[in-house]
Amino acid sequence: MELLCTKALQKRISENLSEIRTNITRAAKRAGRSPDEVTIVAVTKTHGAASVRAAMENGIKVLGENRVQEARTKFKEIGGGVDWHFIGHLQKNKVKFLFDIFSLVHSVDSFELAAEINRRAAVDEVHILLQVNIGEESTKYGIKPLEVTDVAEKISRMPHVRIEGLMAIPPPAARPEDSRRYFRKLVEIKNEVEEMKLETVSMSKLSFGMTGDYEVAVEEGATHVRIGSGIFGRRDYENRVFSK
Ligand SMILES: *Cc1c(COP(=O)(O)O)cnc(C)c1O
Repeated sequence: MELLCTKALQKRISENLSEIRTNITRAAKRAGRSPDEVTIVAVTKTHGAASVRAAMENGIKVLGENRVQEARTKFKEIGGGVDWHFIGHLQKNKVKFLFDIFSLVHSVDSFELAAEINRRAAVDEVHILLQVNIGEESTKYGIKPLEVTDVAEKISRMPHVRIEGLMAIPPPAARPEDSRRYFRKLVEIKNEVEEMKLETVSMSKLSFGMTGDYEVAVEEGATHVRIGSGIFGRRDYENRVFSK
């Protein structure tokens, strides 16, 4: 029974991923991009090791986690044969847990968090993206669009933090098309930061697009799409396999 369930799970994840890859390839072509420029970050929150392994067997190289505790539990089981990216809001007292697990933090949403990462850094350089509150929603974390250049400039002087790009979560939308203007706005901010020519800052990574809007995201220049339910199915927070 157990085996059958795992088999069915593997099949579904494999099918989902091949459909997503086809869609990404088409969207990239429409925009004159190469699909190789786009990394799928498989967002495994609430899903167990069997799902994660199935995704890895189907070519997933990057996992996205939004909770430190869940990631630590999962990391013990899965290990380092894959890149782990942190994508959730991080409390300052959890910063110390980042360094053993994550190779990129997408969700640096304030100057203060960057400063704390710089202070505690257990590695020479911590690679980060700045999360921008692109819809200026009071319910969301992120740096205000008008403050990004300033904050980037200040963070660029921190010796142990390296900005590699921007991340955003647009407001919830009924249609994928609704996200497009937010993605464009993020690209404009990226261009502004690039024009500052800050020596230690790169804008090579753009993390936007989720299950509902990743095709639009690829058309608008995303290099990292963070996809959860599209790969693994609906999340069940009541019966999550990993502890909070
Ligand atoms: C959960 C989550 C995702 C994935 O969402 P889906 O709609 O399931 O693809 C992407 N980014 C962040 C920050 C998330 O928390």
